[in-house]
Amino acid sequence: MAAPTGRDTCECKPDMAAVKAVSSPLPLALRIVAECPVTKARACVLTLPHGSVNTPVFMPVGTQGTMKGISAQQLEQLDCQICLGNTYHLGMRPGPELIEKANGLHGFMNWKRNLLTDSGGFQMVSLVELSKVTEEGVLFRSPYDGKEILLTPEQSIGIQNSLGSDIMMQLDDVVSSTVTGPRVEEAMHRSVRWLDRCIAANQNPHRQNLFAIIQGGLNAELRRACLDEMTKRDVPGFAIGGLSGGEEKDDFWKMVTLSTDHLPREKPRYLMGVGYAVDLVVCVALGCDMFDCVFPTRTARFGSALVPWGSLQIKQKQYAKDFQPIDPECECPTCKRHSRAYLHALFKSDTAAMHHITIHNISYQLTLMRAVRQSIIEQRFPEFVRSFMRRMFPNDEPHPSWVVDALASVNITLNR
Ligand SMILES: [Zn+2]
Repeated sequence: MAAPTGRDTCECKPDMAAVKAVSSPLPLALRIVAECPVTKARACVLTLPHGSVNTPVFMPVGTQGTMKGISAQQLEQLDCQICLGNTYHLGMRPGPELIEKANGLHGFMNWKRNLLTDSGGFQMVSLVELSKVTEEGVLFRSPYDGKEILLTPEQSIGIQNSLGSDIMMQLDDVVSSTVTGPRVEEAMHRSVRWLDRCIAANQNPHRQNLFAIIQGGLNAELRRACLDEMTKRDVPGFAIGGLSGGEEKDDFWKMVTLSTDHLPREKPRYLMGVGYAVDLVVCVALGCDMFDCVFPTRTARFGSALVPWGSLQIKQKQYAKDFQPIDPECECPTCKRHSRAYLHALFKSDTAAMHHITIHNISYQLTLMRAVRQSIIEQRFPEFVRSFMRRMFPNDEPHPSWVVDALASVNITLNR
C-alpha cells in the first residue's frame, strides 16, 4: 500500500511538477474531422496507443469481473474500437500483479484495441456500503475478506498503470448528483487536489493518458470553478463526471452544455455514465465525444432489446410466434441469425438469450454513433436529430421537454 503523500496542498493550486510530467508528447492525438455549423456536435479521430477511435463513440464495458454476455472477439467483430475495463473488480481479483504478468489487461483479455479503465473509486462509493472519503483517499471494507482498504489517488493510478490501459481516469471524490450543500464544494476541491496527485503518480505518461474528471454537482458556479482549475492542467482529456445519477434532466443537460462550453476544443470530452440513445444524441449536439454506460448490457439481461423506436421486451407473449429479427434493419449477428420467437423461447431455458441480446444492444449503440458521426461529416446532423426523434417519439407522443429545450439551446427546433 503506497503511503499517502501528506501534501497539504492549498486548494486548487496547480502542481507544476505534475503538470510538467505530461507536457512531453502525449500518447493521444485528436483530429477534428468535421464540426456541425448549427450545433456543438463534432466528428473526430482520436489516435491512441492501440489504434484510432472515431468519435462520437460509445464505449461498451468489456470486463465486469467476468465478461457478462460478450467476448473480446465479439466486440472486435462489431468493430468496437475502445472498451472499458473495470478497475475495481480487476484490482481486487485477480489483482494487478497477475494482470501485469499477463502483459496488462490487453494481454489478459486478449484485446488488441484500446482500453479505458476507471479509477475504481466510483464502484467503491456506490457498491460498497462501508466506504468513507478522507483527504488521503477512499476507505472501504473489502467485500471479499472484510479487511479495511484505503484507495488513494496514487494507488488508483498504480493499479491502472499495471493494467496498462490507454486511457486512465483520475480518482475523484464522487458525490451523488442529488446531494447539495458544502459537501459538493468540498468534493470538487478535493477532486482537483487528487488530480494533481494522479498526474504526479502516473509512471507511464508517454503511453497512458490520464483524464481529469470535472465535478461540481449541479451547481453552475462550482462546475465553472472546477473547469477553470482542471483545464489549467495539461491532461490529455477531460471527463464530465457526477451526472446521470438520478438528477432532473433539466439540470443534467445544463451542466453538460456548461462543461463543453469551457472545455478546450482540441481535447476529447467524455461524458460518463450516459447510454440512453436519446441522451447520446442530445449530448453529441451539446459537444460531447465519448460515452459509456452499463445500461445496454444490463438491460439485455432482462430481455430488453434496443431498437430505433425504443425497446422491445423479448419475454412478452406477443413475440412467441414473431419470426422477424429484433430489428429488420439491424446487421448484427443476432438479427442476421435469430428471430424474436427463437429468442423468446430461448430466454425461458438458457442464458444464451441474454448473450444474443447483449450483442444486439452493443451493436445498436455502436451503429447509432456511426450514423451520428456520418451525419456530422455530411453536414446534415440537425436533420438526423429530427428524424431520430420522430422515430423515437412517433405519432403524437410529445418529445420530453428537456430534449426540446436542450436541442433548442443549440439551434435545433423539433417540429411536431
Ligand atoms: Zn441486431
